[in-house]
Amino acid sequence: MTSGTGRTTWVYEFSQGSKDQKDLLGGKGANLAEMTNLGLPVPPGFTITTDACRYYLEQGSTPPDLADQVTEHLSALEKAMGKTLGDPADPLLVSVRSGAAASMPGMMETVLNVGLNDESVRGLAAQSGSERFAWDSYRRLIQMFGKTVLDIDGELFAHALDEVKREQGTDSDLDLDAAHLEDVVGRFKAIVAEQCGRDFPQDPREQLDLAINAVFDSWNSERAILYRRRERIPGDAGTAVNVVAMVFGNLGPDSGTGVAFTRDPGSGAQGVYGDYLQNAQGEDVVAGIRNTVPLPELERIDKGAYDELLRTMERLESHYRDLCDIEFTVERNKLWMLQTRVGKRTAAAAFVIATQLVDEGLIDMDEAVRRVTGDQLGQLMFPRFVSGGDAQELTQGMNASPGAAVGKAVFSSETAVEWAGRGEKVVLVRRETNPDDLAGMIAAEGVLTSRGGKTSHAAVVARGMGKTCVCGAEELTVDTAGKKFTAPGGTEVTEGDVISIDGSTGKVWLGEVPVEPSSVVRYFEGEIDPESDEADDLVRSVHRILTHADSRRRLGVRTNADTPEDSARARRFGAQGIGLCRTEHMFLGERRQLVEKLILAEGDDERQAALDALEPLQRQDFLEIFEEMDGLPVTVRLLDPPLHEFLPDLTDLSVRVAVAEAQGHPDEANLRLLAAVRRLHEQNPMLGLRGVRLGLVVPGLFAMQVRAIAEAAAERRKAGGDPRPEIMIPLVGAVQELEAIREESERVLAEVAEARGVDVPALIGTMIEVPRAALTAEEIAQSAEFFSFGTNDLTQMTWGFSRDDVEAAFFHAYLDKGIFGISPFESLDLDGVGRLVQIGVEGGRRARPDLKLGICGEHGGDPDSVHFFHEVGLDYVSCSPFRVPVARLEAGRAALGAERAGS
Ligand code: ADP
Ligand code: MG
Ligand code: MG
Repeated sequence: MTSGTGRTTWVYEFSQGSKDQKDLLGGKGANLAEMTNLGLPVPPGFTITTDACRYYLEQGSTPPDLADQVTEHLSALEKAMGKTLGDPADPLLVSVRSGAAASMPGMMETVLNVGLNDESVRGLAAQSGSERFAWDSYRRLIQMFGKTVLDIDGELFAHALDEVKREQGTDSDLDLDAAHLEDVVGRFKAIVAEQCGRDFPQDPREQLDLAINAVFDSWNSERAILYRRRERIPGDAGTAVNVVAMVFGNLGPDSGTGVAFTRDPGSGAQGVYGDYLQNAQGEDVVAGIRNTVPLPELERIDKGAYDELLRTMERLESHYRDLCDIEFTVERNKLWMLQTRVGKRTAAAAFVIATQLVDEGLIDMDEAVRRVTGDQLGQLMFPRFVSGGDAQELTQGMNASPGAAVGKAVFSSETAVEWAGRGEKVVLVRRETNPDDLAGMIAAEGVLTSRGGKTSHAAVVARGMGKTCVCGAEELTVDTAGKKFTAPGGTEVTEGDVISIDGSTGKVWLGEVPVEPSSVVRYFEGEIDPESDEADDLVRSVHRILTHADSRRRLGVRTNADTPEDSARARRFGAQGIGLCRTEHMFLGERRQLVEKLILAEGDDERQAALDALEPLQRQDFLEIFEEMDGLPVTVRLLDPPLHEFLPDLTDLSVRVAVAEAQGHPDEANLRLLAAVRRLHEQNPMLGLRGVRLGLVVPGLFAMQVRAIAEAAAERRKAGGDPRPEIMIPLVGAVQELEAIREESERVLAEVAEARGVDVPALIGTMIEVPRAALTAEEIAQSAEFFSFGTNDLTQMTWGFSRDDVEAAFFHAYLDKGIFGISPFESLDLDGVGRLVQIGVEGGRRARPDLKLGICGEHGGDPDSVHFFHEVGLDYVSCSPFRVPVARLEAGRAALGAERAGS
């Protein structure tokens, strides 16, 4: 920001900021400012902006006027505190704390007690009346400063401290007295001198400036870079630096430090959650150096501070209208607030907390719907590990793809395939996976890797397949050749040992952790009545939030289902019809032979006979689906895949034929079949003879399917049902294709109506999945009563790559290089494929304002994509049954203008 005189403001007083300035002041600084302005007890201080950090990172030096601005603010701080930084008689001490816009817990550095030196340590002792406290603070400064600013290996300090403890025959810091700590300081200073060739800086201002630069530098520390890559945080945002007057939790038993949540971030339950450590400073709580006590104990230790803390937490909750997490310190019975932020929480807690806040009058139901995401709901639908059993927790890796998988550890793709083939459940364990592991990944219950992040091959491919995956479990040493891995503590897991992996938390166990179906799914299934006692808080919250989302959404939600069972389930899950009923599955199994006959038919009669045999089977399929979806639309897609998919594999068949010939009795039937397979073989089946093209060149094929639909509808009508078929033609690229099929279909529909004596109204429409269809939507709509965007094919054809080939081959590399942030098959590529959808919508509606518009690709269940489909004005999305609730929620959130979910 630039003030009137043209000078950039690099430094802000806490009282000048607010919680909405995270980008400039970082999350920590913005919230310190907010708390200051709420009148909460925050030690005074100031924030150096992320702008200054970016300047420093780009230019390699701080902005020229930064030092002056720091001086101004430091003087103000000194005045407010009545002390001078590092004053030998009565020093002001400060902490220098990192804090970026996005929370990166523990990734960057903080230095406490800046301002102490050989002289001021004595002043601090005199002022505080505690020599021990003063030397303890000094040794902490040298230790943190040495590590963070001077880049000295922290272990050297830790060892030196341990040595003194050992000499005193203790393993607790608290047993060291002032003289011992002075001794520690001496040893620390020696370490600094030896490691850096210079003495520990005695000038307080030099300490401050070096610490500020060190915080800037810590933005690019290895672990910070790694963390950002994994969490998809931009690498150029930079961190702010907060300079805060020190308050001391290490002044004695009437002091201490702690962390707290305003409610349980695991379950959402209300209560007092946190840890407290008496006579301690800063990081001691999380570092696990000494045992903390549960926060409720503070009531006994210091009732006054405890009561004020609870009041403050309430104040923060009602102000932020959300769960907050907090860092605080008690200095001689006085409470100080050192940090707060809207706290991270589990998916379950997100739902429970949202409705709790409604009941407490802090937010309304609209806001509750905005506060949860479809991703969170999706996580709640996976089967869950339940505690209990005697599995041994081994480690925690990255939660790359949710789910709970239990199986025998195997260390190669081949073994996974082989063992799974004989009915065993396996978990594939690799250092990292590559395209050669694909078969094993498909065969396994889950995948565990010791290397690679959330965009590694294992993670990307597992998510694409909906397979449980824990990746980057770096504590495991995987020895694939030796068929074993070693966990921390030396536990060895060898091939065949049962392990359990939790893709939602990243945890890994040796042994079988019991699983249970999610209560949320049981609720969707109708097994748990949300109003009954059987419903827990989670089910009740999900029910309330989804019901409200339903009342707000404009988008309809349908399902992709080809079986009566899936149709019924999807309807229970809230689907308002079928947006995609694929018919190719109905050609598999025993019916394959009929398809073979159709393909091998010589002459019209043979072909018609094959079709006539298929028709009643198809009719039965539709009948049952229409029954399950009675009163709701069912969009049936006519046959889409190339015919050779229903024939035996070319190589297999060639071998069979060759073997028969070699044995001297050639197999006539197989020979004919082989000729057909050869004839139908395609180089690029995805771009070959399929969809409407097939309908146009195989006489009677689509007519047979339409007849089956019409007959089923007629029968349902006669039985008093209300079937609502919609006939969908795949892969249309030109209106002429559609016109030809439409004519034929209308003729069949009329014939059936005539013959059965009932009306069989059916809409006829098309998929928009070839770019040309989107571009010529206006013409195509002349002949279509509805469009359904087939975003899977549309994505393949827009990018010019086939999903099956690319996901395993190079997607992880593309993701790593940042060519896309997320797979365009997972979340719609808005700029490219989305643009085509938009063109299709506009063209279609120009020609036919009442054109029904839907989407039936997998993106129909993806949270971000749902928001786009809402914005672009579709009537409905269609997705797999399990994604239906997710789509309902996101459609509601989209209507309420909630932010896209992101990831
Ligand atoms: P992180 O971002 O890793 O949490 P912080 O900047 O919050 O790092 O600081 C680390 C620890 O030091 C925290 O426990 C914090 O509460 C404590 N701390 C920071 N500043 C002060 C201060 N001025 N007085 C006392 N304790 C402080
Ligand atoms: Mg902190
Ligand atoms: Mg398609």
